[in-house]
Amino acid sequence: MSVVFKRGYVLGTGIADLVIENGIIAAIGRDLTSKRAINAAGKLIAPGFVDTHQHMTQAPLRGFGADMTLGHYLTEVVHHIGASLSTEDVRTSVRLAAAEAMNAGVTTVLDWSGVSDQKQSEVAFEALNETGLRVVFGHSNPDAMHPQAGAVASLGPDYLSIDDTARHIATARNLGLITSMHVGGQKGGGVRLLHEAGLLGPDLHFVHGNRLEDDEFTMLVDAGSTLTVTPVTELMMGHGALAYRRFAEAGGEPALGVDVQINNGPDMFSEMLNCLTHERIHGELPARDMLRAATVNGAKAIGLGDTIGSLEVGKRADIIMLTGLEHLFDEDPAVLEGAVATSVGVQDVHTVLIDGVLVKHEGHLVDHDLRELRELVVEIAHRTLAAASR
Ligand SMILES: [Zn+2]
Repeated sequence: MSVVFKRGYVLGTGIADLVIENGIIAAIGRDLTSKRAINAAGKLIAPGFVDTHQHMTQAPLRGFGADMTLGHYLTEVVHHIGASLSTEDVRTSVRLAAAEAMNAGVTTVLDWSGVSDQKQSEVAFEALNETGLRVVFGHSNPDAMHPQAGAVASLGPDYLSIDDTARHIATARNLGLITSMHVGGQKGGGVRLLHEAGLLGPDLHFVHGNRLEDDEFTMLVDAGSTLTVTPVTELMMGHGALAYRRFAEAGGEPALGVDVQINNGPDMFSEMLNCLTHERIHGELPARDMLRAATVNGAKAIGLGDTIGSLEVGKRADIIMLTGLEHLFDEDPAVLEGAVATSVGVQDVHTVLIDGVLVKHEGHLVDHDLRELRELVVEIAHRTLAAASR
């Protein structure tokens, strides 16, 4: 598809035209033409959001655990509910999660898949691939990796022995993949163990980090390892203070993720706002930094920094258009970007393109019916919640 978005406010540039050709941002400038033109006047054109940590199969259980601690979640959701999903449930669940993500302007998700059964992993991967969402599939069975997985999803050193963690990292390195793991949600010291074992590196992506010790952030930054903070889930479940500021002050570029939907809507607007309000308890922090965290930092965190995450000629066209911000187009860009991080929501996501393909336009998903998908998961939710209460 070749298309030009006419006279929108292009984030980082100002009022301009933006041309997409063959799924790539081909040009940004004035008076550009293409076969097809879309009027973008009055809309903000921004990079799509990158959710670097979600467990997509849990989408049917949205809101089930608003009072759950991490311990409750692990025993009630992960152990019971995870085990009760059929292969068909997995397919429906990830389709819902993908549709919700795209509806909210999320163009890439790292799915830290809780599915380790080989058949179910294949189905999850196939289903996600058909949705149009850009997915990095983190496979949580490192001993039988899906050939097209994008990451090894390892429980990491807080939950596994250092030898098992090392084995997962070695599997990923042999395949040229990143390893994504939870660390510091319950205790510190996990990064130190990996550091002492000589295992840290730029291919390691960590999630949470709340209870890491100060020098562990420096170890991460020195090794080029990346960190995703999942503000709502961490604050709701009592992981402790967010690690965003500590990692940033050590020189890191924190990313943001949704994590689980049991206590959380599946969008990055609430993650940006909750992160900002929490971290401002400790001092000033520019709101626009949250937008960077939710876009370009996210892309870098999962190894896609050269491909997506910003509006640059040559990058893949993962783009959103937002309404409701036109009154700020003449203001300092920091004001406009701060408004995206704090003052708009899913209802303002007008258009979404992924890899140059239109997946949402004029406020509606092109190929997905959210209401129908939600109806399909009601039965899954009833059955799995019954299993949890036994
Ligand atoms: Zn998680």
